[in-house]
Amino acid sequence: MKIVQIPLTSYQRNDIVIWKDNRDGQYSVKSGYKQLRCIQNIQQTTGPSHSNGSKLWQQIWAMKSLPRCKELIWRASKEILPVKMNMKKRGMNIDPICPCCGEEEETTIHALLTCEPVRRIWFASHLNIHISMDTPDNFLCWLERILAHPEKDTMAEVFNMIWAIWGRRNAWTFEQQLWDINRTLAKATSISVREAPRPAATKNTTPPKWKAPPRGFYKLNVDAAIRRNLGTGLGAIIRNEKGESMAAATWLIEEIEDPSLVEAAGIKWALRWTKEMGFDRVLVETDSVLFVNQWERSQTGISYFADIVKECKHLSYAFSLCTVSHVKRDCNVVADFLANLAFDFHENYWLEEDPPGTSLLISADVTHAASVALE
Ligand SMILES: [Zn+2]
Repeated sequence: MKIVQIPLTSYQRNDIVIWKDNRDGQYSVKSGYKQLRCIQNIQQTTGPSHSNGSKLWQQIWAMKSLPRCKELIWRASKEILPVKMNMKKRGMNIDPICPCCGEEEETTIHALLTCEPVRRIWFASHLNIHISMDTPDNFLCWLERILAHPEKDTMAEVFNMIWAIWGRRNAWTFEQQLWDINRTLAKATSISVREAPRPAATKNTTPPKWKAPPRGFYKLNVDAAIRRNLGTGLGAIIRNEKGESMAAATWLIEEIEDPSLVEAAGIKWALRWTKEMGFDRVLVETDSVLFVNQWERSQTGISYFADIVKECKHLSYAFSLCTVSHVKRDCNVVADFLANLAFDFHENYWLEEDPPGTSLLISADVTHAASVALE
C-alpha cells in the first residue's frame, strides 16, 4: 500500500497538492475525467446495475448490524475491497496470491469465504456454515443467496462474521498478527454485543440534519479517518443549494496519531482543492470542535496544530467568502464515508458524480434539507 508522504505544514517547506495522473503533478479537469472513466469501467465490469445496487443497499441497510459491517458488505459486493486481485485489476503491480493461505488468488470471495482457514472459521462458528466447493465465484451472487434467507437475526450474524474475517485478514496482511479461530469468533461476537440499543437515544430530540447552502454558495464537508498502519484517510464533498454533489475527493496521507491534527490536515487539503476547482463562496463544515475553536482565535497559539489552522486561515483569504463551522457527526456522514473510502481509492476525484456507495447518503441529506425547508 502506497501512502503519500507529504509534510503537514508548509511553514518550513513548500507543500503542494500533487495530482498523480498528470506528469507535471498539476490537476486538470481532463485528467480528472480520465480517472473517473477508469473507475466507472471497473464498476461496470464488476458491479451490479444502479437500480439493483440501490435495492441491494436498502436490503443491506435494513439489517440489524453495525454501519461499519454494512459498509464492508457493500464494498465487498461492489468489488471495491482492496483484496489483491482488485488492486491488480486497478493496475497495481502486485502479487495476487492470498497472503493468508499462499495458494490461490485473493479475490473478494476467496478472502471472505473460500480461503481454507476461513472455511474452517465458518464451520466452527455456531452458525455452522459449510462453505461448499460450488460457492459462486462472485461475492454479490453469494450475498443475494444469503439475503434471500428468512432469518434476519442470522443474517446479522453472518455480517458480523464477515467483518471479523476481514479484520483477521488485515491483521495478518498488515501486522503479521495471526488470529486463530477463537479470536476471530470472539471478534464477531464482540461486535454483535455492541449492537445493543443505545440508551442515549431520546424521542424528544430530533437528530441534527445536514442543510444545503443558500443559492450561489457551496457547502464543503470534510472529515478524516485514521487506521493503524494504513495511514490517514481524508474525504471532502462540495454540494450546491440542491444538495447535489459538485465534486468529491479522497486522499490517503501518512498516519497521524493526533485526531485534531488529522482534522486540520483534512481541511487544509480540502480548501486547496476547492480553490483549484474554482468554487469561490464556500461554507466549510467539520465535526472537529477543536479546529473551529482555534479558527476563531486564529492568530494565537504556538503549536503544530495552531500552525495548520493558521495556514487554513491564509488559504481562506483566497476565496471571496469562506466560513468554517462546527456540525454534529450526523451532519457530516458523507464526508466521513469518503474519509474511509480513501483507504480503497487513495487519491481520487469525482466531478459532478456521486462517489461509489454515497448516493443514498447524499440523497438522505437532501431529504433532510427539504424537510428542514418545509418546517
Ligand atoms: Zn487464501
